[in-house]
Amino acid sequence: MKKYIKYLIAFLVIETSLVGAFIWKTFADEAEQQQEKQVSLATSKSSEKQTTETSSTTQISETQTTETESTKEEQPKEVVNERSIALTFDDGPKRETTSQLLDILSQKGIKATFFILGQNMAGNEDLLKRMKDEGHVIGSHSMYHHNLSQMNEQTLKQDVNDMDQKAKALFKEPFKYIRPPYGAANALVAKVANRPLIEWSVDSKDWSSKNTQMIINQVTQTTGPGSIILMHDIYPETISAVPAIIDNLTQQGYNFVTVDGLLNQPKEALNYFGTNDSRAVN
Ligand SMILES: [Zn+2]
Repeated sequence: MKKYIKYLIAFLVIETSLVGAFIWKTFADEAEQQQEKQVSLATSKSSEKQTTETSSTTQISETQTTETESTKEEQPKEVVNERSIALTFDDGPKRETTSQLLDILSQKGIKATFFILGQNMAGNEDLLKRMKDEGHVIGSHSMYHHNLSQMNEQTLKQDVNDMDQKAKALFKEPFKYIRPPYGAANALVAKVANRPLIEWSVDSKDWSSKNTQMIINQVTQTTGPGSIILMHDIYPETISAVPAIIDNLTQQGYNFVTVDGLLNQPKEALNYFGTNDSRAVN
């Protein structure tokens, strides 16, 4: 009997210690897993933090790059959309009217495009520099407003070269665009010009009406999305019409851009009449 009790006690002792060992092991494992979990959590958190830090660093450097670029270009990029239109002014510059127009455009925060005559450049260099500095685009309207489509190749080359020499002297680059007087161009003009010829889709008829209210009505009623609007900055009646034209068309949801923006920096020697309207010159 004593022998059995001995065995029983031994069994109980062994079993208890086994169970104890098992329980201890389980707890130890759980604690270890818990610890591992915490470690991995902490690790992933810190790597997330690092990722965030890295991306914010990237953002900062991107911002810096943008700032540097905009400082270099000096002019912010134009916002162009389906309601964009371009105001264009021909035959200037003319001291009094062009100055007044630049004041109005500056006050309204609007960029326009000027097609100037070579014969009007001398003595108006300050006005032309102001145009450029204030973000307007300047193109050539030829030296003397002759009909380019009636010129022979030699005379045509002379005109285009003379204008480019003047542009280089003043702006350090040739004219990007030419608006042929009367909108008259042919294949030879396109070949010699070798750059976009900018026409128009809306004629303010300011040159014939010379009446402020008629100019306002004509432009307001005939403008559509993507229009290039023809006006002349040499008539006081045109200058008087500009504020109302800007206000009316802004109210209709239009936004004003240069031909650079409207036509997305065109390069080909085609006739451009408005957004998505370029035609071969015959
Ligand atoms: Zn003209």
